[in-house]
This record gives sequence, C-alpha cells and structure tokens, in this order.
Amino acid sequence: MISENNLEMILAYNEEFVTERTFEQYQYSRYPAKRMVIVTCMDARLSEMLPKAMNLQGGDAKIIKNAGGIVTQPFGNIMRSILVALYELGADEVFVIGHHECGMTGLDPELVMSHMRDRGISENTLTTLLNSGMDLKRWLTGFDSVWDSVANSVRIVRNHPLKPANVRVHGLIIDPQTGKLDVVVDGYEQQEVSESPAG
Ligand SMILES: [Zn+2]
Repeated sequence: MISENNLEMILAYNEEFVTERTFEQYQYSRYPAKRMVIVTCMDARLSEMLPKAMNLQGGDAKIIKNAGGIVTQPFGNIMRSILVALYELGADEVFVIGHHECGMTGLDPELVMSHMRDRGISENTLTTLLNSGMDLKRWLTGFDSVWDSVANSVRIVRNHPLKPANVRVHGLIIDPQTGKLDVVVDGYEQQEVSESPAG
C-alpha cells in the first residue's frame, strides 16, 4: 500500500488557497456571532453535519471537540475552554451535543490496551502506568449511554462555581445519519436534568 503524503498534498493545496484569495469568503470575527459555545464529539461525520443541522455558519459558534463530546473534569481543559469562551470571547450560552453511534459508547479499556500492545507499546509501559496511581483503565473507558453522558456533562458545566449565573446550558443528541436533534436538557427550563426515555 502506498502511503500518501497528506502534509505535502495539504501544503500544495494551501498555496493555491492563499494566492487565489479563497480565504476571503471564510473570514469571520473571533467573537461568535450567535454567542454560543458548543462541546461536541470529534467524529468526522459531524464536521459538516452538525453546523448544517443547526443552521450555523462559520463564525457563529465556538466549537470545542473531543472524543465523545464530554466534560469530565470541572477543572480540566474542556471546562477551561468553555470559561474562556464565556468570559473572553463573548459566548453566553453552552450546548453539550453528544451523538448516536459514538465511538466512546462502550469503549473498552482492555480492548484499547490490546490495540496499544499490537502497535508496539510494551507490557512494561502499560504495567508502569497501571501501577502509577493514575487510573489508566478508567481514563480509557467510554460511556454506556450517550443520554447519561450528555446529562452528566451538562451537570458539571451548570454547577460549576465559575459559571456566570445567567448562562444557559443545554444538552442535545444528534443523529449523525439524519442530523436530527433530541433535547436531553433544555437550559431555558431551570429544572433538573431529565431521565433517559429509554430508562
Ligand atoms: Zn463520537
């Protein structure tokens, strides 16, 4: 199999992009026009589908992505990005958006570690990490239910001691096939996070 040189191809394309001034149609303010910050999954299917399904144009929203679209740590890197968007970049509404068929659903740490071994990570390295006090297995564990995951992330953001009181936090799930959005938490209703309809 011939391995294509992605970097080379990107740089060749980019030269044309810049010299032909294609960039002019993609210039926006750094302050999101719809004053929104979105936390969602890095799933490649969502790159276009999510903004289209929400009628978002370039420049409308700050979008923070990770595997699963999850906020797990009140003082982790995703929450810091949310706070920067809220305090420094003019966002005043938060959307946590999970999706069906997510790679983080049922992610099994044992399987991930076996893939690491296959790719040349030594048993010694894994053992050292497993014994280091960091919870490697938990760190590599996904979630069982995207509904519960979204609800949990919303709870972390909503209850954060540094979140401005007037900031609404919504939780949604998108179907990557159809773009349909389901509401897990409506941030305009100041009620408790609802339970999954599936139970
Ligand atoms: Zn995903």
